[in-house]
Amino acid sequence: MSAGETWMAVRDGLLYCIPANCYIDPHEPVGRAIITHGHADHARSGHGEVFATSETIAIMRTRYYTNDNTQETALNYGERFDLGNGVTLWFASAGHILGSAQAVLEFQGERVVAAGDFKRHPDPTCAPFEVVPCDVFITEATFALPVFQHPPLEREVDKLMRSMATLPDRTHIVGVYALGKCQRVMKTLRLAGYKPPFYIHGALKRLTELYESYGQDFGEWELVSDIPRSKKDYFTGKVVLCPPAQINDRWSRRFANPLPTVASGWMQIRARARQKRAEMALVVSDHADWGDLLRTCEETKAKNIWITHGRVEALEYALKQRGINAKSLDLIGMEEEVGE
Ligand SMILES: [Zn+2]
Ligand SMILES: [Zn+2]
Repeated sequence: MSAGETWMAVRDGLLYCIPANCYIDPHEPVGRAIITHGHADHARSGHGEVFATSETIAIMRTRYYTNDNTQETALNYGERFDLGNGVTLWFASAGHILGSAQAVLEFQGERVVAAGDFKRHPDPTCAPFEVVPCDVFITEATFALPVFQHPPLEREVDKLMRSMATLPDRTHIVGVYALGKCQRVMKTLRLAGYKPPFYIHGALKRLTELYESYGQDFGEWELVSDIPRSKKDYFTGKVVLCPPAQINDRWSRRFANPLPTVASGWMQIRARARQKRAEMALVVSDHADWGDLLRTCEETKAKNIWITHGRVEALEYALKQRGINAKSLDLIGMEEEVGE
């Protein structure tokens, strides 16, 4: 057996640490769960015990459980915790969204890092990815095809700013995922000098406020629903943010001359942009692209790479060509479209 295989396993389609009797990002309720971050395909409700960063716990509370009896243990990045039976857990930042973490597990001199979702591009709304040398690196593969090379976010935001300058009579409606993408786009627009208030859909409110409670500043923003429907022109020349499904539905008809835009990593694929009926596509991803996936796997110096979800075969093949042991894990419940 190679490193990690005596004490880390896939049980019923879930990633499991045997001596600690603990699952990582389990898709269904379990006794003990380590949660890497708050996106819905990783953070589910109903576990007996949860280990996560305090930000992730706050996100989970906001999204689901009010009447849950889950026992929570919040750990800061780098803080070591004894899970029992000789297993130590600590979190390293993953650079994906606020509070996102790689779960570092140590047992009998071996170290396994389950990265969850991660990215290497800079993000002003969360701590940067930390490379943790390990024996086994467990990685996602959401954008694991050579075609995926994510541009700098500044370039995409600049595209939006130029469009607003050229088409001042349009209302730019930007479809963003509510957790992470929304806040990263707002913050980057501010850093690029965008001054007017943002107008946001109600579905983005609570998580934006949660980011603010952790010290993020997005400047002034208002809820679209607080502006009377009669004021159709009110939003002209401004940025409106909403979930991607709303850019073209009934909700968007309240705006004069809307310009539907989607911010997503998938926007690099033209067919996906067409499918969303977006007039403008911003390539904004919170996942590592092809080059960063390979670079990260190499930087961890791990001799064994286990791949959880996404374009598993392509990454497995490329790693094997580089002489690295790679295998895909058959996990259930990981969705590629969440928070992409
Ligand atoms: Zn995620
Ligand atoms: Zn994910």
